[in-house]
Amino acid sequence: MAKRTELEMVKAGLSAHKKHGYDVQVTSEEAFEILKATGGICRYCKKPMVRGEGKMHDRSPTIDRINNEKVMTKDNVQYICKQCNTTKGAHTHDEFIGFLRNLRNSFKARNIQ
Ligand SMILES: [Zn+2]
Repeated sequence: MAKRTELEMVKAGLSAHKKHGYDVQVTSEEAFEILKATGGICRYCKKPMVRGEGKMHDRSPTIDRINNEKVMTKDNVQYICKQCNTTKGAHTHDEFIGFLRNLRNSFKARNIQ
């Protein structure tokens, strides 16, 4: 089977969210533009997002709600790697950044590289 196109991957991601009961108001075309705008780099870890061969892995691009308390509109979704998405969990962008800052400061204070 041929590898899915990026647009097909975007559509599959959105329809999976719909199936799980999310209110998906972003179109696949809009989501595709958002994915392209990342340049393939995860917003948080800045590592390249790499698609698997039909299988999700830590570096796979995944759609995320920037604020999990809001619905999936084009202004509230982003593509980040699966590992960052899993770690961010149900937190908002601001909460996640706060968590990361606390970790960084704690590591710095204890001289952990
Ligand atoms: Zn990441």
